[in-house]
Amino acid sequence: MKTSILLCCLLLTAVAFGQNTYLHCGKLIDTKEGKILTNKTIIVSDNQILAVEDGYTAPKSSEDIVVNLKSKTVMPGLIDFHVHIEGETNPRAYLEKYTLNDADIAFNAQHFAKVTLMSGFTTVRDLGGSGVNVALRNAVNAGKVDGPRIFTAEKSLATTGGHADPTNGAKKGLLESPGPEEGVVNGVEDAKKAVRQRYKNGADWIKITATGGVLSVAKSGLNPQFTVEEIKAICETAKDYGMEVAAHAHGDEGMQRAILGGVKTIEHGTMMSAETMALMKKHNVYLVPTITAGKSVSDKAKIPNYYPEVIVGKALDIGPKIQDMFSRAYKSGVGIAFGTDAAVFAHGDNGKEFGYMVDAGMPAIKAIQSATVTNAMLLKMEDQLGQLRAGYLADIVATNDDPTVNIETMTEVVFVMKNGKIYKK
Ligand SMILES: [Zn+2]
Repeated sequence: MKTSILLCCLLLTAVAFGQNTYLHCGKLIDTKEGKILTNKTIIVSDNQILAVEDGYTAPKSSEDIVVNLKSKTVMPGLIDFHVHIEGETNPRAYLEKYTLNDADIAFNAQHFAKVTLMSGFTTVRDLGGSGVNVALRNAVNAGKVDGPRIFTAEKSLATTGGHADPTNGAKKGLLESPGPEEGVVNGVEDAKKAVRQRYKNGADWIKITATGGVLSVAKSGLNPQFTVEEIKAICETAKDYGMEVAAHAHGDEGMQRAILGGVKTIEHGTMMSAETMALMKKHNVYLVPTITAGKSVSDKAKIPNYYPEVIVGKALDIGPKIQDMFSRAYKSGVGIAFGTDAAVFAHGDNGKEFGYMVDAGMPAIKAIQSATVTNAMLLKMEDQLGQLRAGYLADIVATNDDPTVNIETMTEVVFVMKNGKIYKK
């Protein structure tokens, strides 16, 4: 009996005191309450936060590691709800779909994943690529590759000629007409099949392109591209498989159809009317603003020959409108899920979005909450991600300045820990 109690105590001591990491935090953001706390110690054991204590706790064992973040502001790992981890903008991007092999895409994606992690984003929702994104997610989860925790939509769903039809712009006969297996849907039965195929391929979310888009080789960036019946079939089928649906949408009509069809997030939301904002709130649908992408496409469109000609007008028209819409949506009470559309601009610049949100009238602390507690909740990971408290996964980042005083500090994250492992110090 005595021996077993002694053994038990020894084991507990090993768990509690063996090689823990003590983070001494000058400032710590309580993302749940929206408050800045001072002089705290986060104790990390393995991949979890063991405790958050007042003051600077001294380590209990000589094996423990102490990290001095006394001059920093410490917060949970950031979550970007809209990235495309496989690619990145460049003037040859429109040719690359005919020249890159999956292996090329995989090496690129591995690089972008590392850059993303190092910029403080420890979790991302990937909203569409070729399927390499699924393999990358698995490799990151297995610890083979450094990158953020990835939740991926695998391949976006579109209608024929729609924003994510992979054959847009190709000459006739070069490529076979894609169907639901390739993510192209025409009608309710196709819609169900396309979702089931994504499940089979390993997707975590479903992404649809509910309206035209800026960067597809197609005339309209705004027109609705699915019927409500198709979107309903997608959302109901996704629900059967435990998935939710994100809808890319710039035009108002397509947004309304997506909301009525049952999607959980609207991406971009450029032309969102007051009526649609009310509908968003009624159906508890979140806006993922992607202001950085809007600004980036309108800047790039001014560079001669950067984009194909059909894209330039759309980029100049749609890009600059997103920030103003975001401002109105936020003020009207629409739920905001932080997301940037990284890939449309350089991976690693995701933190710029915070400054644009604050410029548009959102308090810094709310912007940080949208990238932590809100996105964790939408991922159904609110008891593991998005907060710094005992029992949560040890995804922890820090900035030089207090972002509620200087929001630009979010573009230069100086400390990154994910799953208890330090990647940047
Ligand atoms: Zn996107």
